[in-house]
Amino acid sequence: MLRQVADGVLMRQSEFCQSNAVVVHGRTGVLLIDPGIRDCEMAALADDLSAAGQAVAAGFSTHPHWDHLLWHARLGAAPRYGTARCAATARDLLSEPGWKDRIAGWIPPDIAEQVPLDLLGLITGLPAEMTRIPWDGPGVRIIEHRAHAPGHAALLIEERGVLIAGDMLSDVLIPMLDLTGTADPIQDYLAALRLLEDVAGDVDVLIPGHGSIAGAGQVHARIDQDRAYVHAMRDAPVPGDPRVGPSAKDGWDWVAGVHARQLQRLARRSQRDGTPG
Ligand SMILES: [Zn+2]
Repeated sequence: MLRQVADGVLMRQSEFCQSNAVVVHGRTGVLLIDPGIRDCEMAALADDLSAAGQAVAAGFSTHPHWDHLLWHARLGAAPRYGTARCAATARDLLSEPGWKDRIAGWIPPDIAEQVPLDLLGLITGLPAEMTRIPWDGPGVRIIEHRAHAPGHAALLIEERGVLIAGDMLSDVLIPMLDLTGTADPIQDYLAALRLLEDVAGDVDVLIPGHGSIAGAGQVHARIDQDRAYVHAMRDAPVPGDPRVGPSAKDGWDWVAGVHARQLQRLARRSQRDGTPG
């Protein structure tokens, strides 16, 4: 079910990890951001759009992780965008032999067969100097940063006061650092949070990639909560975060495992590099 969260901005939440797909109305169609997870959900979204007389004018993936790269044939053949680095990462993934099996290994088995992989990751990279999505709707500013995944981008729809945060600023998922290729994932994440903080004053509605939306009054609290977690990872890795442990929301107890693995990997990294964090 599509739900309006701001003027001309709607979202649909998947049952899988409360993944949020976002629809923005433009002049000749909609912009669809991170379209969804299961085949039937994306088909239902396509139904809702066609019932409203809307076609998809453009797509956008906030980052190159499988749950943000999916698409459904019924959503049409509009151009799908991401940052240049996001698109390059997706391209590398798709160039590996057996990539479907590899991705299937990341998808929880209970939904694996319901996730259509055929159109995964077919996105066009936008050059870094292009700071807005090319389409004929309200201006959508691309705030690229290094956190969580290569080429991760938040999107700011200034005239609607909407910030689409990708996999940051969630009420249920802790900051998940990109530990794969960056020299200093902790500093990168903190820098990314500062970028989001710079625009927070213009935000009436924050839509995270997973979890609940937040209103203007909660945006700084979400940023502070993520920053506190990252600081704790750096300084004193004690899980004092409400998203980890007994205070986690129902069904989200597995985030504690994500936290534990992340701590381990970070510890291995700093042993190897001889530097803290
Ligand atoms: Zn995600």
